[in-house]
Amino acid sequence: MAHYEKLKNICDGRATAAPAELCCYAADGSQVKGKPDFVVFPQTTAEVSQILAYADTHLIPVTARGAGTGLAGAAVPVKGGILLDMSRMNQILNIDINNIQVTVEPGLVADKLNDALKPYGFFFPPDPGSAATCTIGGQIANNASGMRCVKYGTTKNYVLDLEVVLADGTVIRTGSNCLKTSAGYDLSRLYVGSEGTLGIITKAVLKIAPLPKFRKLIMISFPSPENAGLSVSRVFAAGVTPSACEILDKTSVTVLTKLDPDVIFPRDGDVVLFEVDGSSENAVDESAELLAKACEEISSSILITNDPVQMKEIWDARRLLGAAVSKLDPTKTRIYVGEDLGVPIQKLPALIAKVYEITNEVGITPMIYGHAGDGTIHVGLFIDVLDENEWKKLDTAADKLHLAAISLGGTVSTEHGIGAARGAYMEMQCGPAFTVMKAIKKTLDPNGILNPGKLGLS
Ligand SMILES: Cc1cc2nc3c(=O)[nH]c(=O)nc-3n(C[C@H](O)[C@H](O)[C@H](O)COP(=O)(O)OP(=O)(O)OC[C@H]3O[C@@H](n4cnc5c(N)ncnc54)[C@H](O)[C@@H]3O)c2cc1C
Repeated sequence: MAHYEKLKNICDGRATAAPAELCCYAADGSQVKGKPDFVVFPQTTAEVSQILAYADTHLIPVTARGAGTGLAGAAVPVKGGILLDMSRMNQILNIDINNIQVTVEPGLVADKLNDALKPYGFFFPPDPGSAATCTIGGQIANNASGMRCVKYGTTKNYVLDLEVVLADGTVIRTGSNCLKTSAGYDLSRLYVGSEGTLGIITKAVLKIAPLPKFRKLIMISFPSPENAGLSVSRVFAAGVTPSACEILDKTSVTVLTKLDPDVIFPRDGDVVLFEVDGSSENAVDESAELLAKACEEISSSILITNDPVQMKEIWDARRLLGAAVSKLDPTKTRIYVGEDLGVPIQKLPALIAKVYEITNEVGITPMIYGHAGDGTIHVGLFIDVLDENEWKKLDTAADKLHLAAISLGGTVSTEHGIGAARGAYMEMQCGPAFTVMKAIKKTLDPNGILNPGKLGLS
């Protein structure tokens, strides 16, 4: 308890070791589990620095947590130790429209940043489905992305500068307020996606973008999931960059229509939701027409709308997909576990075909959805949690899916991260670069206190 008292002191009493409270930190949005020994709630960079210096001296693991919405167990303290709850460092420190940037603390909830930017006509584009709850720190540490990343890029494209506390408590800045710099290694990018394994982010300077004035949604249904996948490269080849491009296979559409029978989704196939946006109405209209034309030959039906009510209803339904699945089963024993595969967009049809082949062979029901515009598909695998055999099938299917993505030149995670769930594939996917990653980790965290058990590093 001496460690706990010391840490509590650093945080002015903001800490807990109560067993019931520790349980709240023993999981995230994945199946990974692991309980911390204590939770501390820092409010300043100085407190984070003191906590890390203490932990490094006494070799205590430290895991940072934003909102715990991650889907790979990255915020789960699988080796125990200190859980750093960053949610109280949640202020917007500066909105600087003239320099197209904001400075924020890492515990700020993503949607709150966009609420604050809206009156200025600006936004922070990376928009994970969890934006209503996830934090900017979690977004950066995971390189999160979302529906609009096909046009606007992922979190890494918006990070200008970070304040980071290193394992020994040293505080550094990784970049600058300039929109570009070529002064040495890009340390900001190193921290994006580092999952709290190289340092703790205590401040972030982020680039922002003007909100588009006009938007149009094009909802297209296809006779097969492969055709739906093919539509993506056809649209890009036609010279259109959509601002969103979401695939929902027949199972996904069934889930949504069971939740709300009136939902405006075609019932006759696999669906892709495209959106185009811009500052001129004519340009947006033209892009919508070009896009529809590119898909005409391979599709079953096309709906084009700029009605804001209809568009909101469709996008809200898409965002609800994960939650809708749990409503399907009143006994709550049936869940789905989501994988996060990515390939170059031209290989999407091949990956989709592989998913059906593998799940059919293993005997498990899949649901395919996700940000197809950047080559991402999430594969929901349905299992009954009370059936041990189904867990085994899940592991077999997930393993084969990861190997299939790698063999198609893809990735085992496009946005949900590696965490404790996918470390086994790092060496295979990254090759000799993984040795470089290990060397970076050893240099920045020689005692291995920062988020051990993640990224396949330890
Ligand atoms: C319903 C749902 C939908 C989702 N949709 C998407 C999506 O569309 N796109 C997407 O990319 N992800 C999505 N996710 C995954 C997840 O929400 C995002 O990755 C999110 O950005 C994680 O933020 P968080 O605050 O919850 O982070 P946490 O889960 O708390 O932590 C994630 C990682 O960040 C580290 N971390 C947190 N704060 C800091 C800090 N200050 N310094 C250093 N490391 C830190 C943690 O240690 C951990 O490694 C979804 C999740 C859910 C539940």
